[in-house]
Formats: sequence, structure tokens, C-alpha cells
Amino acid sequence: MFRVPVAGLILVASWMVLGAAQQRPGPIDDAALRAPEARAGDWLSYGRDYYEQRFSPLDQISDRNVAQLGLAWQMDTATDRGLEATPLVVDGVMYTTGSWSVTYAVDARTGQQLWKYDPEVHRKYDNLACCDVVNRGAAFYKDKVYVGVLDGRLVALDAKTGRPAWSAVTVDQTQPLTITGAPRIARGKVIIGNGGAEYGARGYVSAYDAETGQLAWRFYTVPGDPSKPQENRALDKALPTWTGDTWWKVGGGGTVWDSIVYDPELNLLYVGTGNGSPWNRHVRSPGGGDNLYLCSILAINPDNGDLVWHYQTTPADTWDYTSVQPMMLADLAWQGRTRKVIMQAPKNGFFYVLDRETGELLAADPYVEVNWATHVDLKTGRPVEVPGAAYKDKGTYIRPGPLGGHNWQAMSYSPTTGLVYIPAQDNGRYYEQPKSFSFRPGEYNLALAAAGRAVEGYDIPSKGRLLAWDPVARKPRWTAEYGNYWNGGTLATAGNLVFQGTAAGDFIAYNATTGEKLWSAYVGTGIVAPPITYEIDGQQYVSVMAGWGGAFPKKFRSVGRLLTYAIGGNATPPLPKLPRRVTALPNAASAADIAAGGKIYSTYCARCHGGATVLPDLRRSTPAVLNGLERILDGSMVERGMPRFAELDKPAVAQLRGYLLDERRKLAASER
Ligand code: CA
Repeated sequence: MFRVPVAGLILVASWMVLGAAQQRPGPIDDAALRAPEARAGDWLSYGRDYYEQRFSPLDQISDRNVAQLGLAWQMDTATDRGLEATPLVVDGVMYTTGSWSVTYAVDARTGQQLWKYDPEVHRKYDNLACCDVVNRGAAFYKDKVYVGVLDGRLVALDAKTGRPAWSAVTVDQTQPLTITGAPRIARGKVIIGNGGAEYGARGYVSAYDAETGQLAWRFYTVPGDPSKPQENRALDKALPTWTGDTWWKVGGGGTVWDSIVYDPELNLLYVGTGNGSPWNRHVRSPGGGDNLYLCSILAINPDNGDLVWHYQTTPADTWDYTSVQPMMLADLAWQGRTRKVIMQAPKNGFFYVLDRETGELLAADPYVEVNWATHVDLKTGRPVEVPGAAYKDKGTYIRPGPLGGHNWQAMSYSPTTGLVYIPAQDNGRYYEQPKSFSFRPGEYNLALAAAGRAVEGYDIPSKGRLLAWDPVARKPRWTAEYGNYWNGGTLATAGNLVFQGTAAGDFIAYNATTGEKLWSAYVGTGIVAPPITYEIDGQQYVSVMAGWGGAFPKKFRSVGRLLTYAIGGNATPPLPKLPRRVTALPNAASAADIAAGGKIYSTYCARCHGGATVLPDLRRSTPAVLNGLERILDGSMVERGMPRFAELDKPAVAQLRGYLLDERRKLAASER
């Protein structure tokens, strides 16, 4: 009897010790990264944890109360370019990145900035980055934050101060190579790739020692000069799948510009590779061949960089069908047993499920409209191409186009609903052989003729949707349709919610099971980044970076902010006033010419440049563009995707200019 209170005291004492330990959690080392359940309130790495499902077990914000969500705090990034980053949250501090690879540490309770690191990227990269000066996020390991910089540097920052601990140049900086993707951590190494295949590049992925910044290994994804020894045995195997001598002079492609996922249990690093360089297979490899390892998922040993297995989603790519799109790991009940799978919805329009131990293809089904292949043969693992889709003799309109059925915008998976939430989109492109091809350094080298012509029967509205895909049943369960493509990445939570921002500037929460829209906030600027969620002191928050940008829209209008919501927060405050961007210019056109120009505009321009797409709004064109319309319409920008309209003669172009100047006058007046 006497001993009971003593035992009780001891019990209380050990509970107190445990409580203190919980308040001061250990470092983010390999063990911590492998056990994200011990830090349910944090967001430790790009896809939240090594499985990269972007599923949070937090459920304080749920389908029952999400309608009460309001703004807790916001941080103005003072940028007007695309914001694509996934913020990390570790021990109450948020680490995120913005335009020009600027890195921020922010108090995750209040939004107060703790430090900011600006790598001071040369502004010439404005023209060298294919797809805006974006950055998709940082990595956290032990006491450092790692960020890939647009100009090809990989920088390790002291997590407390933001001061650089080391910096490594990962690319040949004389070439137009850029880093926009987030680094990943695997067993003491920092893994990073880069982009640049549109300009001409040979792809690779590199591993650096996280402590010292020393290069540990580099894996080239395509063979180099065939007269020289290849760097590894996997490239010896790949070499016979390439023909001619264009590819290795242009680069070949296969850049690793986004998805890298690590499985600590199998000790395999999965790397997605990009399109061919140049795009056109008949120019790149005129004698045929699959062109390994373009458009593939590669499983690599992270200790030495050796290739373990590969699966090529698009053999002999000729449409810019990168396989760099986000990948996630899952353990699925599959035909009576549990399979360790890897899932991807690459640009080519098929949703893939592979056994991630062996690379065996388990499923590949179209998740958007696809017209380049009839299906993927599960026995051979190969797509069955539609005759003519490779535009060898005749131009053709192909879906999806180079923006893909899905791009870098992260998808998420809820183990509760069993659904993958894909930011899917409709788009297409006209592909045609060029009259000739010669490599031009520093420019797009696609080896295509003028593109984008409207083709009868393919008047596609470029739309997007949130697609809830059942990977086991291999079909969609529900969709939420949007009027625009290029919407944001997704987040799934144990509160039976899916969050997504849209191109139109709405931040939305859906019931994850049914797709019912439960909450939305208009934030005044397009969202492309994926949201995250975290918890501090018993309060759950949802954050997203809002800032329109990405693939096509250079200098598109946006007001960059990091927005954080919680139950009981305020309504979104009004946007800061946008600066006036255009002024009226002299216009000598008559009312009749302006009216005629309006007809030309609606026939030739409005579909792409009418303000409803990511392409430039012609009312905001610089005077140089307006004065140079004749050259542009005569094909000076065909390699950038702007078609030639030879049928528009000089008087017609003058009428079009008159109309655009008049529209500009109206816009300038409205922005006053
Ligand atoms: Ca590309």
C-alpha cells in the first residue's frame, strides 16, 4: 500500500522527462528522415517524407471544419515571378525558396522572417532559363539547408543563420544549364540534377557529400561521344540504342530537372529523366533506336551511382515527353498481395504503376486524352504508337503537347481514400519536320518546323482539372474542372481533404473522398506551387506560395506571397495595389482599321494570347514587340512555339497593331 504513491511519483517523473524530450526533438539525420511519424507536425522534405506522397496525418483541419479556415499570416516575397516551392517546416521554422533561388527562413507561427539568403544570380539567366526563374524548394539535413541555384550552384546554408557553409558548381556555367528542382537527401549525400535540354544538353544527376560538398558520383543519363569510352557500363548498354552523330553534338537530352525519390528500405534512388535534345527523333537519331535513357525512371544505387534498373516510359521520344514528373512510393494491395510500387503521371498522358524493387510494369493507363499511342502493352512494357504520330512524313497534331498531361506540379496520395490527386491538364501541339536543322548555341534547338497551327478537328480548349485517380482500379473516381491549365500542385490530409491552388487565383479545399468543394479563398494571383500543412503548439496550419509563373509566362503579372491559413484565421486581406504596368502609346489607326484588326486578333491571336492562358497578354507587349509584329508573324519566333502567319500582309498587320494599341489604351485607363 505504501509503495503505490512512490511508483506513481516515478511514473510522473519519467513522463516529465519524456515531455521535455518531445519538446526538444533530435536532429534531422537519416533516422529522423526514415521515421516521419515521430514528427507528424513537421514537413521534413520535398514530398513531406521519403515516400513523397504529400499526405499529412494531421486532421485538426478536416472536412467538418475547413469552412472556418482563414488567413493566419502572410509574407510578401516582393517578387512578381513564378513561385513553385514546397516549403519545409522543421522545429517551428519554415524554409522556402522564391524567384532567383532566394531562400527564406520564417517563424512558422507568425510569418516573421528569420533570415534570407540571396545567391545573387546573374540576371542573364532570365533568358537562359526555359521556364521562368523559379525554384521548387530546399532540402534539410542535420544542421543545414540545401538549395539548388538557377546558375547551377548547389549551396549548403547554416540552418540557424542562412550563411553558406559550402557551395559547389554542378554544371558547365558556359552552357545554358539551370537548376530549378529541389535537392534530395540520401544517406549523407545531396542529390541534384539540372535542366537545359531545349537548348542542347547532356543530362546527368550528381551526388555531393552533405558535409563537405565534395562530388561523390555523377550518372550521365545518355551516352556521350561514341568514339570515346563511356563513363559507365549502363551507357555501354545504351550506346547501341542511338544512331547517327547529331545527338552527342547537340547533347542528347535526358536532363534530370525535377523528380528524384529515395527509398531507404531498398536503398534505391529513383530519378526521372527528360526529353531528347533535340526533340525530333528523326534528326536526333536518324537510324532509329530507343535512345536510352531518355524519358525513363532510373533506379540508382545512391552509394556509388550504379544503375540498378530502368523503365522507359517513351522510347525514342519525339514530343518532349519528359519522365521527370513527380514520382511517389506506396505499398499497395495489388491482386492479392502487397506490392512496393512507384507511381508517376509523366507528360505522355499515361499513369504508370511499377514494382519499385524490379522495375516491372504493373499498369499504364491514359489519365488524359492521348492520341500518340493506342495503349501501353503490359507484356512488353512498350507503348503502341499510332501510325504517323512521329510526324516523319507529314505534320500532325498530338495530344498531350509539350506541357504534358501533367507537369512538375506535385500530385498527392491519400492512403485513406486510396486515390492519387493529379493536377492534370489538356493541351496539344502541332509537330512537323523542319526544312533543315543546324545547331544554334544558346537558342532553342528543337528541330521542328513552325508549330501551333490550328488543325481542323483539334480545336482544344486548354483546360485543367484536379483528377482523383484510383491506381488499383486504374480509373478516375472524380474530377474538379478548371477553365485554365497550369494549376497548382496538391496536398492530401488525414482530415479527408485535398488542397489545390489554381491558375485563376483560387486556393481550394475538397472532400478527398467525393470531390465536393468545401472551402476556397481568392488570393488575387495564380497559384502553381503545392500546399503543405504542419502543426505547432497544437495548432494546424496550411501554407502555399502564391505567385503566377513557370513554363511560358515570362514577366507575367503576379504579387508573390507566402500564405498560411488556420481555423479561425481572418479573411484574406485585399491585395497590395499592383503597380501600373502599361501606358497608352500613340495610335494613328482609324476606327475602321481598329475594327478590322479586332477580327484578325480574334482569328489569329485570341486563343493563345487572350489573357486566359499562360501566354503573354498582347495588350501588355513592349513597344519593341508591337513595332516588330511583321517579323514575329513572319516566323522569327517559331522555335519558341510562335507560328508563322504568312497570309497576314502588311496592311493586315497594321490593322492588328492598331487594334492592340487601342486595347492597350483601354487597359492603361483601367489601371489608373
Ligand atoms: Ca522539355
